Amino acid sequence: MWKEIKPTKPVLPDKNIFMQEIDSIWDTGIMTNNGEKVQKFKSKLIEYTRCKNLDLFVNGHSALLLAIKAMDLQGEVITSPFTFISTTNAIVQNGLIPVFADIDDSYNLNPNVIEELITEKTCAVITPHIFGIPCDVDKIEKIAKKHKLKVIYDGAQAFGTRVNGKDIACFGDIVMFSFHAIKIFNSIEGGMLSYHDDRLQKKFELYRNFGISYNELGSDVDAIGINAKMNEFQAAMGIVNLSGLNDEIGKRKKIAEQYREMLDDIPGIETYKYRPEIEYNYAYFPIKVLPEYGITRDDLWHGLKETGIGTRKLYDKLTCDYNCYQNKKYIKKIGNAEKVKNMALDLPIYGELSEEDVAYLCQRIKGMRK
Ligand SMILES: *Cc1c(COP(=O)(O)O)cnc(C)c1O
Repeated sequence: MWKEIKPTKPVLPDKNIFMQEIDSIWDTGIMTNNGEKVQKFKSKLIEYTRCKNLDLFVNGHSALLLAIKAMDLQGEVITSPFTFISTTNAIVQNGLIPVFADIDDSYNLNPNVIEELITEKTCAVITPHIFGIPCDVDKIEKIAKKHKLKVIYDGAQAFGTRVNGKDIACFGDIVMFSFHAIKIFNSIEGGMLSYHDDRLQKKFELYRNFGISYNELGSDVDAIGINAKMNEFQAAMGIVNLSGLNDEIGKRKKIAEQYREMLDDIPGIETYKYRPEIEYNYAYFPIKVLPEYGITRDDLWHGLKETGIGTRKLYDKLTCDYNCYQNKKYIKKIGNAEKVKNMALDLPIYGELSEEDVAYLCQRIKGMRK
């Protein structure tokens, strides 16, 4: 039996509904620069997250770059190396020094190792909610408050997640979200920042439009900004996709439940343990392949691939180990992350994946055990 299962699949809305949404762009002639679609998208996102300070950007990475810039930071930043390269790049691109700290069972920054890495140069914690799993926001923010550190979360993978009923957008000083095509929720490409201090709004408006400010005489340039504006077509896609998001999360939750039921009795396969205080977005389904399984994560990945099943080795490299960073003398205390990078495998999870596909995939994983 040979069956193709893709590792991910972008969520596309009903074509006609999208066409209807973009139709008015031909009337207004406005395709970008904070047009009516971007404004409508923003108000829908405020409604969804119940977080009043939000701003939209062309993509997540630009948003994260500008979030860090807006905090006027200098010195060292405590971060997790178990993430997509964007997190580390954004820190270094802002002239800051990453200090790589270890992860815990949630795949996220272990709050218990933060304090030993704090020096007089430490200015912030900038860390992801990896796989959409929230990091320990309460502990991290308590430590940050004690040491007067800023907290910026890379929530690129975490849109739609809630902790104790509160949207993940409402934690820390700033949270970045990505609406890239393969994220749980997409606007083709797109990014968002949510934040507490409403004075940041002015900065983001300047920074994402070259730093240009407008006045009675025309305009001036008040800051050295970039171009990171979301366009109207992106916003239209976001508007239409947002109405389908809860449905998509619901479908993925069912798949996650089926995975756990079928995988939890396979020795050597460890699934993530969901916590009752968290409403997950089920954006990813990470497993760990332990020695008991008999073959390695790499062999399992390869074997599944040979039978047409795509899985992703997220993350088989820590960001501090990529070519561009490996020779830098950054401080690292990452023993557990070094282990997890060799065990973690991300299984396909998307609304269109059928119960049969999930069962087939689990049978394959069971059958490959040695
Ligand atoms: C996707 C992602 C980003 C980058 O977002 P883009 O919208 O693609 O720029 C940053 N961090 C993490 C953890 C991501 O998964």
